[in-house]
Amino acid sequence: MSKVVIPPMARIPKKTPITDDYEITKSVLGLGINGKVVECYSKTTREKYALKILNDNVKARREVELHWKASGCKHIVNVIDVYENKHKNTTCLLMVMECMEGGELFQRIQDRTDGAFTEREAAQIMHEICIAVKYLHDNNIAHRDLKPENLLYSKKGTYGILKLTDFGFAKETLSQDTLQTPCYTPYYVAPEVLGSDKYDKSCDIWSLGVIMYILLCGFPPFYSNHGMAISPGMKKRIRMGQFTFPDPEWKNVSQNAKDLIKGMLNIEPTSRLTISQVMSNWWIAQYTTVPQTPLHTNKMLKEGEEMWPEVQEEMTRSLATMRVDYDQVHIKSIEDSSNPLLNKRRKRSIVNNQSGK
Ligand code: ADP
Repeated sequence: MSKVVIPPMARIPKKTPITDDYEITKSVLGLGINGKVVECYSKTTREKYALKILNDNVKARREVELHWKASGCKHIVNVIDVYENKHKNTTCLLMVMECMEGGELFQRIQDRTDGAFTEREAAQIMHEICIAVKYLHDNNIAHRDLKPENLLYSKKGTYGILKLTDFGFAKETLSQDTLQTPCYTPYYVAPEVLGSDKYDKSCDIWSLGVIMYILLCGFPPFYSNHGMAISPGMKKRIRMGQFTFPDPEWKNVSQNAKDLIKGMLNIEPTSRLTISQVMSNWWIAQYTTVPQTPLHTNKMLKEGEEMWPEVQEEMTRSLATMRVDYDQVHIKSIEDSSNPLLNKRRKRSIVNNQSGK
């Protein structure tokens, strides 16, 4: 597949008042940790959009920058406009996005009344999410917060398109290409940095594995059996990558699907499948020929409705742990690494310590 080219975009937020171009309403679409999302309307087209309001800081800038950079993919919520305005003496970043009116992915599956959800439909949804992740990874972005509540439908009904949103934890990854540019001459790049993008991207593959598992049965692969938010036993199971495909929900699901999940939930991040490997897997690439086996998904989602907030919290926590762990791998590997400059510095600091300096 050819490399995705990011459409050229003005990356500088507009400094003019957003109210020149949009009518901002009081109708709240959602509350996030970093800001509020409200409905707004274009004054020229009268079209409805979602507006995310963030206090200007480094983290918010990174979110806006990467979300903006990722816009252009059909399966990513597109950023339409960005403003930098002062509001009551504080600078805000105002991000105008496509308005997603079709709700969350699993809510939609749970609400279905037109017969059982099938393995082929699950494959089609996975194919759509993979298109978004492939676009990001090809453009050196790791999302790192890919979870059910960040997968929204554009519209209710059959015309709705599934899109990924919320770039609050996204990270720009260093690719081999970037590292070969003059400003990253190999002399200055520690060897462990060369592989760091694999770790960041592998978070997204783990998420894909969990989402695919839930799509096929209606409950997550790692869950606490005692109704506790996260038991020590479950933490261990996640760490050990222990999960099963229990009957009756998994009885008729294809072996292909199970093998693909195993490849995505591989405990060792560097051995996990890459997005290109996932996309060339028959179950995703040929999703239109996947068997139309009826699944237990909607029934199980309905039965587990009360547990859903916990499922979401668990995934949020696991991703947070993973981000910290993977970031630490690089710090640790710097400690362990033996490049001449580091060794020289180490020697010097030992000598200094011994001489009491
Ligand atoms: P945070 O990163 O702070 O968690 P999100 O970007 O996830 O914030 O947005 C918070 C909530 O706002 C979402 O859960 C969703 O309900 C709603 N929301 C976000 N973006 C849109 C959008 N483009 N269209 C409609 N609702 C949205």
